[in-house]
Amino acid sequence: MLDVERLSRTFGGVYANRDVSLTVADGELRGVIGPNGAGKSTLFTMISGHLHAQSGRITLDGQHIDRLPPHRRAQLGVAIVFQGARLFPGMSVLANVAVGATSRTRAGAVSAALRLPRHRREEREIFADAHEALARVGLSEWADRDAEQLPLGQQRRLQLARALTASPKLLLLDEPASGLRANERRELSHLIRELHRDGMTIMLIEHDVSMVTSLADRITVLDLGEVIADGTPDEIRRDPRVIAAYLGK
Ligand code: ADP
Ligand code: MG
Repeated sequence: MLDVERLSRTFGGVYANRDVSLTVADGELRGVIGPNGAGKSTLFTMISGHLHAQSGRITLDGQHIDRLPPHRRAQLGVAIVFQGARLFPGMSVLANVAVGATSRTRAGAVSAALRLPRHRREEREIFADAHEALARVGLSEWADRDAEQLPLGQQRRLQLARALTASPKLLLLDEPASGLRANERRELSHLIRELHRDGMTIMLIEHDVSMVTSLADRITVLDLGEVIADGTPDEIRRDPRVIAAYLGK
């Protein structure tokens, strides 16, 4: 489904990603790990289009997407939950999810302001999609709550719901479990595993190696902007380069 070929990006002359290549199969759950600053977030934002690659190629289902802006990639099925993603303050749980969906519709701000018929129809669809996504992550009963009042674990599931309104075929999750308590982490793992079982292709950056190894089909390890290993969780755990660069620390 996803083919990343020799993707590179520098910041101030230093490589954040250097010739990063990987292939993700349809329906796969790919873990991405590596020390802080390894280039994991850079990789995800280049795939989603929020950051430009300086060289390399990204192919989604046979289509080159590396020249497309983020919203076009989103329309093609790429969804991202950014590291440390924020909620919209002062808005309900439902509104937070609906705002995510609104940005992807055809009817733009002008039609929204004029409340044209197409906009009203889309508004109904958006709220229907938002309700469905909230049900998917188990937050239906909190739909009218102020999103910021939710415990962190539920806030993260809300971020996930927002991404799910797009019915993505490739879901990029950048450290969705960071800062969560053990039970919240388990709930989130369970949810990610369910999405994977339903056939969604997922890439997951996660600090907790035991969580990634329990979820992922394959794991890519980055260090200093380069791929140093790629394999099954068992292969990764035994890889001497991974142990030296990362697991051994
Ligand atoms: P990770 O997600 O693995 O912790 P990042 O992709 O965030 O790593 O960062 C990789 C490297 O690129 C780091 O050295 C970081 O400081 C640098 N970097 C990332 N984003 C920027 C930016 N917007 N401006 C300058 N340097 C950046
Ligand atoms: Mg990061």
